[in-house]
Amino acid sequence: MEYYSLNQYLRDTFGQKVYKIAIDGGFTCPNRDGTLDTRGCIFCSGHGSGDFAEDAACSVTEQIERGKLRLTQKMPAGKGIYIAYFQAYTNTYAPVTHLKKLFAEAIAHPDIVALSVATRPDCLPNDVIALLGDLNTQKPVWVELGLQTIHPKTATYIRRGYDLPVYDDAVKRLKSAGLIVITHVILGLPGETKEEMLETVSYVGNSSVDGIKLQLLHVLEGTDLASEYRAGKFDVLSFDDYTDLICECLSILPKTMVIHRMTGDGNKKDLIAPEWSKNKKRVLNTLRKKINEWQPNQNGG
Ligand code: SF4
Repeated sequence: MEYYSLNQYLRDTFGQKVYKIAIDGGFTCPNRDGTLDTRGCIFCSGHGSGDFAEDAACSVTEQIERGKLRLTQKMPAGKGIYIAYFQAYTNTYAPVTHLKKLFAEAIAHPDIVALSVATRPDCLPNDVIALLGDLNTQKPVWVELGLQTIHPKTATYIRRGYDLPVYDDAVKRLKSAGLIVITHVILGLPGETKEEMLETVSYVGNSSVDGIKLQLLHVLEGTDLASEYRAGKFDVLSFDDYTDLICECLSILPKTMVIHRMTGDGNKKDLIAPEWSKNKKRVLNTLRKKINEWQPNQNGG
């Protein structure tokens, strides 16, 4: 089965491999600062899903330089190019003047070829979208939206804090501004059947977004999800079920949709379950094999 991987997309777009540098812009989020809630989403680590970001105490330029230094060890000889990835917390949750300063500094860096901004659909007022649209005329701007599920009962359980029409509206306005939109989906959320997960993936596939991140639910130490898990209220997906499910997801997504991720990427140190996901190499190798061998109509896909 064929699919459009992020690596391939980056090579097609920039002519070479591109690395991401996770930047911490010092944001918080309405699910943590008391605007909507103080507890955060049920699965969110205290780091706002930015476990690998650079240090927020440093300027954006300093963080980019630090990220570059770390990545040079991984990189073949030649000039590295990078995406500035504002990852931790809600990266549009600040006055537009402040956002402009941070994002413009990142985009002005000569080795940065694109800006990626992770946020919530309910934190995208029109002036912020106008700013992102403006920056997009200088270098490509991606906006990553944490949808996770289309199902209201799960959205309430995970304390997402907004309804599906808010997401739909944000996608519409972002696409009208010419931005690249990537939607995050979590597979394995408590109480969801496989069919429900596939409904979410299909919904995203039929919307006008450009890319999808399929993330395995990680139970992390210190989260409320961990307490629920320890209390035996739900089980995590098995290795076989997850790798099969990814194949089914890919089989229903449009072939032009860029697949940004097929696994989770939590901090191993804090990971409680699923234990098997710690061996990322095994997961990716198995996924590659299963995807290659996948037959149309297998498992109804
Ligand atoms: S996952 Fe995102 S929206 Fe939810 S609490 Fe964490 S930072 Fe906030």
